[in-house]
Amino acid sequence: VSFGYEEVAPEEKTRRVGDVFASVASRYDLMNDAMSGGMHRLWKDRFVRRVKPQPGEQILDMAGGTGDIAFRMAAKGASITVADINPAMLEVGMGRAQQRGIDGLVWTEANAEVLQFPDRFFDAYTIAFGIRNVTDIPKALREAHRVLRRGGRFFCLEFSTTQWPGFAEVYDAYSHKLVPKLGKLLADDEDSYRYLIESIRRFPDMPTFERMIGDAGFVRTKVEPLLGGLVAIHSGWKI
Ligand code: SAM
Repeated sequence: VSFGYEEVAPEEKTRRVGDVFASVASRYDLMNDAMSGGMHRLWKDRFVRRVKPQPGEQILDMAGGTGDIAFRMAAKGASITVADINPAMLEVGMGRAQQRGIDGLVWTEANAEVLQFPDRFFDAYTIAFGIRNVTDIPKALREAHRVLRRGGRFFCLEFSTTQWPGFAEVYDAYSHKLVPKLGKLLADDEDSYRYLIESIRRFPDMPTFERMIGDAGFVRTKVEPLLGGLVAIHSGWKI
């Protein structure tokens, strides 16, 4: 499998992704604002509006990291389980929850490929900027399908490929030149941000990823491109 520009064994990729997020955890929120010019907040708001969390619903926020999606959904009264493979990211998230006086969230360490939850447990499954880091994506999608009840909803927010002419080139130049520099400057970690950019470039395009969601068993799959597809919201239903 690919890790950035390199080919590595699957276990090696999982380990290195772990290192990346352990390394960036304390600077993660600052970097998101710096790299997206604050736009990630708007994408996340939009994403949660699409999810429409209801009071009392059980929602699994997979690869939930420092809690950005979970906090927004908890504000709507849903019961949220935040799962992430990386304890350092969860640690930062729990600290933020405490600071903001948000309680009642469940924080748990989990690999998206092998979930410890029972079948048909959740009303919705969300994963934001997480799936491209997963080593075996089809396996993670099948697990998402397994833990959702019938009528449950799947939502994924992820970078994709913009189809706006000209914009792709500008974005490519920005991401390959400036983002690693920002990583160096703000988080003293150029390599991690090089990996993150390369993982975006290699992620399947919108129709391909939509098909993968269908292959995992979801129906009525849909994709909503933001900024021409620079970011996309994919969704599907379990019936
Ligand atoms: N969802 C949060 C957000 O939108 O701010 C965090 C996104 S962060 C870019 C990606 C997260 O995916 C990291 O916290 C990382 O630890 C997690 N991750 C990577 N591989 C994973 C896996 N196989 N299973 C669960 N989480 C994983």
